[in-house]
Amino acid sequence: MAFQDTIQFIQDKFKSKDFIPLHAPVFRGNERKYVMDTLDSSFVSSVGAYVDLSEKMMADISQTKKAVAVVNGTAGLQIALQLAGVQKGDEVLTQALTFVATANAIHYNGAEPVFLDVDYDTMGLSPKAVSDFLEEFAEKREAGTYNKRTNKKISACVPMHTFGFPVHLDKMLEVCEKWNIPVVEDAAESLGSYYKGKHTGGFGQLGVFSFNGNKLVTSGGGGMIVSNDNDLGIVGKHLTTTAKVPHPYEFYHDRLGYNFRMPNLNAALICAQLEQLNSFLTNKRQLANDYKAFFKTQRIIFRQELENTKANYWLMCVELDSLEERNVFLEATNEAKTMTRPIWQLMYRLPMYQHCFKDEQKNAEYLEERIVNIPSSVRV
Ligand SMILES: *Cc1c(COP(=O)(O)O)cnc(C)c1O
Repeated sequence: MAFQDTIQFIQDKFKSKDFIPLHAPVFRGNERKYVMDTLDSSFVSSVGAYVDLSEKMMADISQTKKAVAVVNGTAGLQIALQLAGVQKGDEVLTQALTFVATANAIHYNGAEPVFLDVDYDTMGLSPKAVSDFLEEFAEKREAGTYNKRTNKKISACVPMHTFGFPVHLDKMLEVCEKWNIPVVEDAAESLGSYYKGKHTGGFGQLGVFSFNGNKLVTSGGGGMIVSNDNDLGIVGKHLTTTAKVPHPYEFYHDRLGYNFRMPNLNAALICAQLEQLNSFLTNKRQLANDYKAFFKTQRIIFRQELENTKANYWLMCVELDSLEERNVFLEATNEAKTMTRPIWQLMYRLPMYQHCFKDEQKNAEYLEERIVNIPSSVRV
């Protein structure tokens, strides 16, 4: 049978001939203790010490000034875009090769995603594609940078660090600075990933992480907005907590806010998970090194971190020779209960984004046909 060696290798690595998932969470630290704490204190919901602690921990880890805990990464992106100034009718530059949440968060704000190509090496938004688009279509006006053709404001750029591999951030920031367009990093997949020694998520005006169940660390559901602009962070906290003006008993809300705060119960879980982040990263890097050595013998490309970056190896992936080869790989591995999954279908194939602008998408379409995720869990 095809890819028998690969299946065997993965089963050996995970010491299992049963179903091997792509990414299962591991709870072997203070999870139970902290969650029980919230039950005992009765602060399970919207206030509580773990929310504050999780924000402190994430500001530390991401090397940013301010972190705001939210219900999930998608909601975090939605608010981060608002904080960056995205308004109804605007355009927001992003990649088509991403999880749907990136485009949805743009759409929820009444803005239109503009889909630009990714780089082959990072699999994330290409600074050159962004630059080419802006040189051709953009015009600086009094009120900001506009798309000359659509007459819409281009109010943000959202690069996404695919599977934890950082995009070319220096170039990305350079291009966006030139055109005065704020960068909001979709860092949902890149907790523990660094670019030139600095943590992802802290390069843009804002960054957003996700703690969904399949991510590197999980709070069940949850996310975190981070920023080096302390004032923006404070507004972010206000916006995600119904915009209530603090008062011992009066209810007064000074703008349209959202109930997007992370419950304390979930925050307790993420605090315990974040304590183990470094051990998880080391554990995954070991697996990545083993995969790297193995796939060399198989004529299959194992995707690795680039020079000057440190990837978290959240979801590890291989690149097959062709769509046909990819399909055989997917069939054989899943048949053997070794879970593998193709990278996402490009956003402009989805009904709600078919009408959106896209550039040539040479790299995105190439990767769409060839990239497959393989089991990547922390091994206990
Ligand atoms: C996981 C993820 C999100 C946010 O997901 P939530 O489930 O809402 O926390 C956003 N963007 C990308 C690229 C993701 O992978």
